[in-house]
Amino acid sequence: MAAADELTALDRQTGDGDHGDNLKRTCATVLAQLDQLTTRSWPEALRAVGNLFQATMGGAAGPLYGTLFVSLGKGLAQEPQQLAAALGDAIVAVERLGKSEPGCKTMLDVLAPVQQLLQQDDGDRAQLPRRVAMAAAAAAEATVAMKATRGRAAFVGDRSIGHMDPGARSAQLMIAAVCDVLQEGSAGAPP
Ligand code: ADP
Ligand code: MG
Repeated sequence: MAAADELTALDRQTGDGDHGDNLKRTCATVLAQLDQLTTRSWPEALRAVGNLFQATMGGAAGPLYGTLFVSLGKGLAQEPQQLAAALGDAIVAVERLGKSEPGCKTMLDVLAPVQQLLQQDDGDRAQLPRRVAMAAAAAAEATVAMKATRGRAAFVGDRSIGHMDPGARSAQLMIAAVCDVLQEGSAGAPP
Protein backbone atom coordinates (compact mmCIF):
# COMPACT_ATOMS: atom_id res chain seq x y z
CA MET A 1 0.00 0.00 0.00
CA ALA A 2 1.62 3.21 -1.21
CA ALA A 3 -0.02 5.28 1.54
CA ALA A 4 1.54 3.24 4.35
CA ASP A 5 4.72 5.32 4.40
CA GLU A 6 2.74 8.55 4.52
CA LEU A 7 0.59 7.29 7.42
CA THR A 8 3.63 6.09 9.31
CA ALA A 9 5.33 9.46 8.76
CA LEU A 10 2.24 11.27 10.08
CA ASP A 11 2.14 8.96 13.11
CA ARG A 12 5.82 9.63 13.74
CA GLN A 13 5.08 13.35 14.13
CA THR A 14 2.58 12.98 16.96
CA GLY A 15 2.65 9.29 17.95
CA ASP A 16 4.84 6.20 17.67
CA GLY A 17 5.12 5.79 13.91
CA ASP A 18 3.31 2.49 13.46
CA HIS A 19 -0.05 3.43 11.93
CA GLY A 20 0.90 2.83 8.29
CA ASP A 21 2.63 -0.49 8.98
CA ASN A 22 -0.30 -1.65 11.13
CA LEU A 23 -2.83 -0.84 8.44
CA LYS A 24 -0.67 -2.30 5.67
CA ARG A 25 -0.47 -5.62 7.53
CA THR A 26 -4.25 -5.79 7.90
CA CYS A 27 -4.87 -4.77 4.28
CA ALA A 28 -2.54 -7.58 3.17
CA THR A 29 -4.55 -10.05 5.28
CA VAL A 30 -7.83 -8.77 3.83
CA LEU A 31 -6.45 -9.02 0.28
CA ALA A 32 -5.23 -12.57 0.93
CA GLN A 33 -8.81 -13.51 1.88
CA LEU A 34 -10.51 -11.56 -0.91
CA ASP A 35 -11.72 -14.63 -2.80
CA GLN A 36 -13.56 -15.88 0.29
CA LEU A 37 -14.80 -12.43 1.29
CA THR A 38 -16.35 -11.71 -2.08
CA THR A 39 -18.52 -14.84 -1.86
CA ARG A 40 -20.28 -13.34 1.18
CA SER A 41 -23.02 -10.73 1.44
CA TRP A 42 -21.91 -7.13 2.14
CA PRO A 43 -22.91 -7.28 5.83
CA GLU A 44 -21.13 -10.59 6.36
CA ALA A 45 -18.04 -9.43 4.49
CA LEU A 46 -17.89 -6.22 6.56
CA ARG A 47 -18.12 -8.20 9.78
CA ALA A 48 -15.37 -10.54 8.61
CA VAL A 49 -13.18 -7.57 7.65
CA GLY A 50 -13.85 -6.03 11.07
CA ASN A 51 -12.74 -9.24 12.75
CA LEU A 52 -9.52 -9.16 10.71
CA PHE A 53 -8.87 -5.58 11.85
CA GLN A 54 -9.44 -6.67 15.47
CA ALA A 55 -7.14 -9.66 15.10
CA THR A 56 -4.27 -8.24 13.07
CA MET A 57 -3.94 -4.46 13.16
CA GLY A 58 -3.04 -3.66 16.74
CA GLY A 59 -2.45 -0.16 18.12
CA ALA A 60 -5.38 1.95 19.22
CA ALA A 61 -6.81 2.06 15.70
CA GLY A 62 -7.11 -1.72 15.18
CA PRO A 63 -9.88 -2.35 17.73
CA LEU A 64 -11.56 0.93 16.75
CA TYR A 65 -11.65 0.15 13.02
CA GLY A 66 -12.60 -3.43 13.89
CA THR A 67 -15.58 -2.18 15.89
CA LEU A 68 -16.50 0.22 13.09
CA PHE A 69 -16.64 -2.49 10.41
CA VAL A 70 -18.30 -5.15 12.59
CA SER A 71 -20.96 -2.67 13.70
CA LEU A 72 -21.49 -1.45 10.13
CA GLY A 73 -21.99 -5.05 9.00
CA LYS A 74 -24.50 -5.71 11.80
CA GLY A 75 -26.45 -2.55 10.97
CA LEU A 76 -26.58 -3.29 7.25
CA ALA A 77 -27.71 -6.86 7.95
CA GLN A 78 -30.76 -5.42 9.71
CA GLU A 79 -31.49 -2.54 7.29
CA PRO A 80 -29.58 -3.08 4.03
CA GLN A 81 -30.66 0.26 2.49
CA GLN A 82 -29.79 2.40 5.51
CA LEU A 83 -26.08 3.13 5.14
CA ALA A 84 -26.23 6.50 6.94
CA ALA A 85 -28.05 5.02 9.94
CA ALA A 86 -25.72 1.99 10.10
CA LEU A 87 -22.66 4.25 9.91
CA GLY A 88 -24.16 6.46 12.62
CA ASP A 89 -24.53 3.47 14.94
CA ALA A 90 -21.03 2.24 14.07
CA ILE A 91 -19.60 5.66 14.94
CA VAL A 92 -21.38 5.58 18.31
CA ALA A 93 -19.77 2.16 18.95
CA VAL A 94 -16.33 3.61 18.13
CA GLU A 95 -16.98 6.62 20.38
CA ARG A 96 -17.92 4.31 23.26
CA LEU A 97 -14.86 2.11 22.84
CA GLY A 98 -12.49 5.07 22.45
CA LYS A 99 -14.24 7.24 25.05
CA SER A 100 -13.98 9.82 22.33
CA GLU A 101 -16.04 12.12 20.13
CA PRO A 102 -15.54 14.34 17.08
CA GLY A 103 -13.27 17.28 17.92
CA CYS A 104 -10.61 15.15 19.68
CA LYS A 105 -8.46 14.96 16.49
CA THR A 106 -9.05 11.32 15.57
CA MET A 107 -10.56 9.17 12.82
CA LEU A 108 -13.95 10.31 14.15
CA ASP A 109 -13.29 13.77 12.73
CA VAL A 110 -13.53 12.26 9.24
CA LEU A 111 -16.15 9.57 9.91
CA ALA A 112 -18.68 11.88 11.58
CA PRO A 113 -18.90 14.57 8.85
CA VAL A 114 -19.12 11.87 6.19
CA GLN A 115 -22.00 10.26 8.09
CA GLN A 116 -23.73 13.66 8.36
CA LEU A 117 -23.37 14.22 4.64
CA LEU A 118 -24.86 10.80 3.87
CA GLN A 119 -27.72 11.49 6.27
CA GLN A 120 -28.59 14.94 4.94
CA ASP A 121 -27.64 14.79 1.28
CA ASP A 122 -30.44 15.26 -1.22
CA GLY A 123 -28.32 16.32 -4.20
CA ASP A 124 -27.43 14.49 -7.41
CA ARG A 125 -27.05 10.82 -6.38
CA ALA A 126 -24.69 10.04 -9.24
CA GLN A 127 -22.21 12.56 -7.82
CA LEU A 128 -22.62 11.47 -4.20
CA PRO A 129 -19.38 9.43 -4.07
CA ARG A 130 -17.46 12.44 -5.38
CA ARG A 131 -19.04 14.73 -2.79
CA VAL A 132 -18.34 12.24 0.02
CA ALA A 133 -14.70 11.91 -1.04
CA MET A 134 -14.31 15.71 -1.09
CA ALA A 135 -15.95 16.06 2.34
CA ALA A 136 -13.63 13.38 3.76
CA ALA A 137 -10.57 15.13 2.33
CA ALA A 138 -11.63 18.49 3.78
CA ALA A 139 -12.35 16.84 7.15
CA ALA A 140 -8.91 15.18 7.28
CA GLU A 141 -7.28 18.50 6.38
CA ALA A 142 -9.23 20.20 9.17
CA THR A 143 -7.53 17.97 11.77
CA VAL A 144 -4.23 19.77 11.06
CA ALA A 145 -5.38 22.77 13.11
CA MET A 146 -6.81 20.69 15.96
CA LYS A 147 -5.22 19.80 19.28
CA ALA A 148 -5.38 16.09 20.10
CA THR A 149 -7.20 15.19 23.28
CA ARG A 150 -7.47 11.42 22.69
CA GLY A 151 -5.01 8.73 21.68
CA ARG A 152 -1.24 8.84 21.81
CA ALA A 153 -1.13 12.30 20.17
CA ALA A 154 -2.84 13.76 23.24
CA PHE A 155 0.43 13.16 25.14
CA VAL A 156 2.22 15.79 23.03
CA GLY A 157 -0.51 18.37 23.71
CA ASP A 158 -0.06 21.62 21.77
CA ARG A 159 2.66 19.99 19.65
CA SER A 160 -0.05 17.97 17.92
CA ILE A 161 -1.32 21.21 16.35
CA GLY A 162 -0.03 21.63 12.79
CA HIS A 163 -0.03 17.91 11.87
CA MET A 164 -2.76 15.88 10.23
CA ASP A 165 -4.07 13.07 12.42
CA PRO A 166 -2.91 9.72 10.96
CA GLY A 167 -6.21 7.98 11.75
CA ALA A 168 -8.17 10.79 10.12
CA ARG A 169 -5.99 10.40 7.03
CA SER A 170 -6.37 6.60 6.94
CA ALA A 171 -10.15 6.93 7.31
CA GLN A 172 -10.15 9.43 4.45
CA LEU A 173 -8.05 7.13 2.25
CA MET A 174 -10.36 4.16 2.85
CA ILE A 175 -13.44 6.29 2.15
CA ALA A 176 -11.80 7.70 -1.01
CA ALA A 177 -11.05 4.17 -2.24
CA VAL A 178 -14.68 3.11 -1.79
CA CYS A 179 -15.91 6.34 -3.44
CA ASP A 180 -13.61 5.77 -6.43
CA VAL A 181 -15.13 2.35 -7.05
CA LEU A 182 -18.69 3.62 -6.58
CA GLN A 183 -18.13 6.67 -8.78
CA GLU A 184 -16.75 4.48 -11.57
CA GLY A 185 -19.77 2.21 -11.19
CA SER A 186 -22.21 5.10 -11.42
CA ALA A 187 -20.40 6.89 -14.28
CA GLY A 188 -22.60 5.38 -16.96
CA ALA A 189 -25.75 5.29 -14.84
CA PRO A 190 -28.77 7.40 -15.81
CA PRO A 191 -29.26 10.60 -13.73
P1 ADP B 1 -1.39 3.81 18.48
O1 ADP B 1 -1.63 5.27 18.78
O2 ADP B 1 -1.81 2.92 19.59
O3 ADP B 1 -0.02 3.57 17.96
P2 ADP B 1 -2.31 3.78 15.72
O4 ADP B 1 -1.08 4.52 15.43
O5 ADP B 1 -2.55 2.55 14.92
O6 ADP B 1 -2.43 3.45 17.27
O7 ADP B 1 -3.59 4.70 15.48
C1 ADP B 1 -3.59 6.05 15.88
C2 ADP B 1 -4.90 6.66 15.44
O8 ADP B 1 -5.99 6.07 16.11
C3 ADP B 1 -5.00 8.14 15.76
O9 ADP B 1 -4.43 8.92 14.75
C4 ADP B 1 -6.49 8.37 15.93
O10 ADP B 1 -7.10 8.73 14.69
C5 ADP B 1 -7.00 7.02 16.34
N1 ADP B 1 -7.34 7.00 17.76
C6 ADP B 1 -6.50 6.84 18.79
N2 ADP B 1 -7.17 6.86 19.97
C7 ADP B 1 -8.48 7.06 19.65
C8 ADP B 1 -9.68 7.18 20.42
N3 ADP B 1 -9.67 7.10 21.76
N4 ADP B 1 -10.84 7.38 19.75
C9 ADP B 1 -10.87 7.44 18.40
N5 ADP B 1 -9.77 7.32 17.63
C10 ADP B 1 -8.59 7.15 18.25
MG1 MG C 1 0.73 4.69 16.35
